[in-house]
Amino acid sequence: MKIDRVLANNPGPYTGPGTNTWVVDDGSGAVGIIDPGPVETKHVNAIMDVVGKRKVDAVLVTHTHIDHAPLANPMARDLGVPAVGYAPGPHFQPDIRLLDGASFDVGTLRLEVVHTPGHADDHLCFRAGNALFTGDHIMGGSSVMVEKMGPYLKSLERLRGRGLERLHPGHGEEMDSPDNVIDWYLEHRRQRHEEIYRAISAGNDRVSDVVEVVYADVDRSLHPLAATSVEAHVTLLKDEGRIALEGDRLIALPAPHEEAPSDI
Ligand SMILES: [Zn+2]
Repeated sequence: MKIDRVLANNPGPYTGPGTNTWVVDDGSGAVGIIDPGPVETKHVNAIMDVVGKRKVDAVLVTHTHIDHAPLANPMARDLGVPAVGYAPGPHFQPDIRLLDGASFDVGTLRLEVVHTPGHADDHLCFRAGNALFTGDHIMGGSSVMVEKMGPYLKSLERLRGRGLERLHPGHGEEMDSPDNVIDWYLEHRRQRHEEIYRAISAGNDRVSDVVEVVYADVDRSLHPLAATSVEAHVTLLKDEGRIALEGDRLIALPAPHEEAPSDI
């Protein structure tokens, strides 16, 4: 197996240095292109320069967000190969759908499919040997925006202790020691979860107020992203019975041990 990265020219607060497009080779010249990224001529040329004379088998997407998927269909069409992903989305129409536990062969290389909802419902990770292409489930150098916290945490836990040795993320640098990275992600979310509960307990009863308090040290350009993650924590706190919603007001409920003792 040989893995090359092509960085798209779309840096920004939501994309870090830009989208990583991964070109994965089975070792004998059959390649898959993972997350081709935005429709941009220079990026297409950069990908095809890296591919060179090798044979492309498929264009795959980890999820259908605008920084990952829009080039997949046009590129697959031009190459005469299938576009592959979990489900149709606003920027993507799969020719082949892959569900959890499926596999997809690029030449002699088997990509195992792990459905990892959380950042997005339609998110997949692709495992090749001990390497994992993580899309936006895990990024290099930062935490990620989470749409659904319960599924996200489960999706992280599912990847622990599976013998992974290297992560190839949708943004940022490649990472070794995947279990340590996953532990950091889980701990970071656990801390945020408690910070958010404490902010609500202190009387911050709107998501926007909670963002101001909990993300005070984070650049304001990222606050809209943070709000999405706070909403996801709020839903989980509600499911856990730790807060209630009155309209869009957030009300902290006392922890069971704080309840007044009964008089028996
Ligand atoms: Zn992304």
